[in-house]
Amino acid sequence: MTSTLPETVFAAPPTVVVPVAGSSRVFPVRRIICVGRNYVEHAIEMGHTGREPPFFFLKPADTLVAVREGEVGRMHYPGATSSLHHEVELVVAIGQAGRDVPVERAMEHVWGYAVGLDMTRRDLQNEAKKQGRPWCTGKGFDESAPIGEVVPADRAAIGPDTEIRLDVNGGQRQRSTIGKLIWSVPEIIAHVSALWDLAPGDLIYTGTPEGVAAVVAGDRLDARIAGIGRLQVDIVPRAA
Ligand code: MN
Repeated sequence: MTSTLPETVFAAPPTVVVPVAGSSRVFPVRRIICVGRNYVEHAIEMGHTGREPPFFFLKPADTLVAVREGEVGRMHYPGATSSLHHEVELVVAIGQAGRDVPVERAMEHVWGYAVGLDMTRRDLQNEAKKQGRPWCTGKGFDESAPIGEVVPADRAAIGPDTEIRLDVNGGQRQRSTIGKLIWSVPEIIAHVSALWDLAPGDLIYTGTPEGVAAVVAGDRLDARIAGIGRLQVDIVPRAA
C-alpha cells in the first residue's frame, strides 16, 4: 500500500522514543507534562508552605535524553545559565487516552514508569517567577529531560516506601520515598486529564523531593528509583 501522506518540504523530525526495559521495543513520546512542587520538603526549600493545588508546566518532547540502563548518557551544560539544577523524579508513561479521568480509574491509563531528571536553569526560573513570566526558558530547554528506560507497569514494583534518590559524583543529594508525593500518581492523572486530553505517549514528570542543587560540567548524576531502574548522566561542556 502506498502512503497517502503529503510529501514533506524537508525531512520530518524523528519521532522521540524512550527504550523499554528488557525489550527491543521503544515507547513513542507525545507530550511531557511536569508537576511543580509535589513534595512538601521541596516546596518548603523553594520558599512555599508545602501544600497547594497541583500546577503544571510542559517540556517539548524533543528535550528528552533517553539513556539505556547500564549506559551513561550525556547532557551538555546549557547556555544562558550559571545555575543548572537537578531534580530527580518518578515519570509516569501513559498508554491509554483519557479525559476527566476519575482517580479510581486513573491507573488504567498507566503504561509504565521511568526515572527522570527535570533539569532546571534555576536562575532563569527564579527570574521568571519574579517577573510573573512563563517558565519555558528555565524548564523547557534542549536536553532538559534525561530519562531512563520505561518499565511496564506490571513489572514495576513501587509503593509508598519505594526510595527515590539522586547521587552526584557518588555523594547523596536527594533521597525520599514515593509515598511523600503530595499528589499521588492517580490524583495527578485525574488533574492532568481535566486540563489536557491524555493520549498514549504522554509522559508525566511527577515532581522532585528536597535536596535540589547545582551541577557543573564534569559531574555524574546517578538517579535511582527502587523497582524502576537507574539513570546515569554525565554533564559535559556545552558544544560550540
Ligand atoms: Mn520538577
